Order: sequence, then structure tokens, then C-alpha cells
Amino acid sequence: MIIELTERQEYILNIVKENGPITGEHIADQLSLTRATLRPDLAILTMAGFLDARPRVGYFFTGKTGSQLLTEKVKKLTVQDYQSIPVVVNESNSVYDAICTMFLEDVGTLFVVNTDSFLVGAVSRKDLLRASIGNQDLEAMPVSIIMSRMPNIAVCEKNDLVIEVANKLIEKQIDALPVVKTVQDNQLEVTGRVTKTNITKVLVDLSHDQID
Ligand code: ADP
Repeated sequence: MIIELTERQEYILNIVKENGPITGEHIADQLSLTRATLRPDLAILTMAGFLDARPRVGYFFTGKTGSQLLTEKVKKLTVQDYQSIPVVVNESNSVYDAICTMFLEDVGTLFVVNTDSFLVGAVSRKDLLRASIGNQDLEAMPVSIIMSRMPNIAVCEKNDLVIEVANKLIEKQIDALPVVKTVQDNQLEVTGRVTKTNITKVLVDLSHDQID
């Protein structure tokens, strides 16, 4: 469970399960505590979704388990809250420049754009390694030759669910997706990037219950 309930919160939960709907005052009575002492616990249980409250009726148990509440939370997370800044190179830049950019910007995937700044491809670490193995002149070789190209680039939009992006990353066996915005003539502008690291952050946030 993402939220670790205290013993008292578990106790409150049981009282409401058995006696709900029940007012805060009555819960306090049963525990021989004041209403004020109980308020933070009731607030936590309500915010977490275990309890619901109706004016003049009192608290009642929502019937949702911890994992149901967790699933509900995960299904609300969208790309815009977890994206990073994209790093792009122009399709005419050399493979050598792309390697330098990758080191300088400390990313594993570069998105490739044309002179109008629209998405045309993606270059990964392995693409660059592959190009570097031979005896080729990396400064004379444009990234457009070695990139994965549109329309085969998997993309996402800022309102997409993080869980859908995670699925795409697994399905396509890739490390990153560009976050795009469709502009004129169905061209794609790159506005962000979602990587496996962003997805990992979701997991860490969930374990700290930092998602509301
Ligand atoms: P690496 O190869 O460095 O481990 P990836 O697994 O992300 O990195 O890349 C695997 C292949 O998929 C590479 O050839 C790369 O060009 C391509 N690729 C990377 N990102 C995407 C994407 N969003 N859509 C389609 N192909 C991609």
C-alpha cells in the first residue's frame, strides 16, 4: 500500500467500516479522543480515498482497497507532469556533432528535426555506436542517414497517460518518446521527452505518496 496507515488510522477505518455513516464526534467518542486530535487522521483517510464524508451524515467507508486507489491514481497521471526538456539535433548535423550533443546534454536519445523544426527522426546511443564502429568519417556523415525515421517514430502528447507511454516504451523496446504537438499539415513539433527515468520517478513518487 502506498500510504502506510498508523495504528490509529487503521482503528478509525474499522470504526467507520462497522458503524458508518458516523460523525467525527462519534468516532472521537469511541476512541476517547477529542475531535480536534482526530481531524488530521480523518483528513488523511479522506484524501487517500478510504473514507468519504457527507455534511450532516458523517464519514463512510468507500469500499476501495489500497490497490484500487493506487490504480486510480496511476490512471490519472499525464505526460505533462512527468516530461523532461527535449534535446534535438538538425537532420543535417553530423553524427560526430550528435555524439557531442549527447554527451553535453547527458541524454540517451536525440530527436531529429528538419529546418522547419519538425520531427523527422530519432537517434539512440546504439545508433551512434553502430555508425562509429566502421572506418567512416563521422564528421561528414549526416545523422539523417543513421536515424530511425518518421513515420516509424513512436510519439506521445502532453495529455496522454503516463501508463500508456510506459506501455509503448515496453512494446517498442525503446528508451524515450518525444512529446509532440501537431501543427500545420500534420507536422509534429517536439515539445518534450519522456524517458524510462521519468517513468521511474512515477514509481518513486508513488512510494512517497507524492501524487495527489
Ligand atoms: P539504445 O539503442 O541506445 O538502447 P533505444 O532502445 O531507445 O536506445 O533505441 C532502439 C532503436 O529504436 C534505435 O534504433 C532508435 O533509433 C530507435 N528509437 C528510439 N526512440 C524511438 C522512438 N521514439 N520511436 C521509434 N524508434 C525509436
